[in-house]
Amino acid sequence: MKSSTVVIGLGRSGIGAANLLNNENNHVIVFEKDNNDEICKSATELNKIGIKVKINTALEFKNFEPLLPIIESIIVSPSIPWDHPTLKQLRSIGIQIKGEISLAWERMNNLKWIGITGTNGKTTVTHMINHILRSNGHPAEMAGNVGRSAADLALEIKHEKIKPEYLVMELSSYQLEAATEISPYIGIWTNLTEDHLERHKTMENYSNIKKNMIDNSKIRIYNADDGYLRENYSRLNPGIWVTSLEKRNKNSFVDYWINKDGFVCTKGIEIFHTSSLKLRGKHNLQNMMIAVATAHAIGIKNESIKQSILSFEGVAHRLERIYTFKDIEIYNDSKATNFASGVVGLNSIEAPAILLAGGKSKEGDPSDWIKALKKQTIGIILFGESAQLLIKSIKQSGYKGKVECCKDLAQAVTLGMKMALEKKSKTLLLSPVCASFDQYKSFEDRGNHFRELIKSYLEIV
Ligand code: ADP
Repeated sequence: MKSSTVVIGLGRSGIGAANLLNNENNHVIVFEKDNNDEICKSATELNKIGIKVKINTALEFKNFEPLLPIIESIIVSPSIPWDHPTLKQLRSIGIQIKGEISLAWERMNNLKWIGITGTNGKTTVTHMINHILRSNGHPAEMAGNVGRSAADLALEIKHEKIKPEYLVMELSSYQLEAATEISPYIGIWTNLTEDHLERHKTMENYSNIKKNMIDNSKIRIYNADDGYLRENYSRLNPGIWVTSLEKRNKNSFVDYWINKDGFVCTKGIEIFHTSSLKLRGKHNLQNMMIAVATAHAIGIKNESIKQSILSFEGVAHRLERIYTFKDIEIYNDSKATNFASGVVGLNSIEAPAILLAGGKSKEGDPSDWIKALKKQTIGIILFGESAQLLIKSIKQSGYKGKVECCKDLAQAVTLGMKMALEKKSKTLLLSPVCASFDQYKSFEDRGNHFRELIKSYLEIV
């Protein structure tokens, strides 16, 4: 009598999967290893609709044993390693294991998926494409890694709350690893740099997970500015290649490029000028080129693409310009949680800048970040748990600007605004290069708090 599905993990994906399956009259049990307040709250909500949640239940074979006669399948959240020993053991006794994205694919593969993967830029590209589609009358919905689970989306569609034509899906390597059958209408690969190797072990494994979805796609779009993708041009299946640079020499194979006068071009046509894009940074030009190629593939006209790019405001917490005060542009880049994204942010803003950084420290080599600090900033305010560690590296490097430490972001904003006004800096940038978990629940919470703090400061002065 096999009749139950076990969902592992009570995060956004797990909750989505449990709700979807329960709504389809399946008997659902959720396993969750932790028991914090948020988990208990979610568990109570699911209990109310008949879903059984076992908290403090680790992914260990012994926890499944009593249920083996009734388990039909297991759905895993993206945070669970696909090759986890317990999953291997369960597979070996014939239990079917799927990722949450597979569940969504089974229910929505009649729609046109635009699958976006890559190490960086996924969220920005997802939002940009969604904006272009919607502003041109194509019903589109975003899900995946963008704060709405794919299973939630499937349930909303089932209830006919929405009727999308395109699903713009941000898909991480963790999600794709557990859903190898996904075959989008358009597959986009933004870039590939070292990341998540603690889980995927080698770059080859990491790359193959993404390549599989791209290979399954009907139309493939690649970013030729990425060194890894460019070097693998001949090994990759044919597709549309974009660059944010000129079309010459190393880039002669590209289909979309920017000419020396700053126009986005394809097949000899100038589509629009890059000044239409409000977002700063070379990386965002790459993201825009990907979005333009996607819009063309869908059949959207040049002038309409230009209008959509003109009206795209960017994505919250990613180098988001929140205010301009006395010629100082204030940016929230709370998503910059490591040194690499800190460098991208610093090199995208106008110097001289005052930087606010700190939080829960992450491992990494700060040398490129320090180089960017020296080039772009005249003052730094450090806050949170990592302040003392960061100040040590900065002082050792011979940085000539002013550096101050403080307890939290509230103090950092007061000190930072004072410094920015005194030194007449062009930019005040929150780019923490650290995780937020020492003082916040997420980078979103930290960015929202920053916005509120700046707003209150500006109301007082
Ligand atoms: P993801 O969803 O893949 O994490 P985001 O769009 O949220 O990507 O951007 C995260 C960070 O990655 C940004 O703050 C920026 O520093 C960097 N980034 C964005 N686009 C690119 C790109 N095309 N190439 C390299 N880095 C990028």
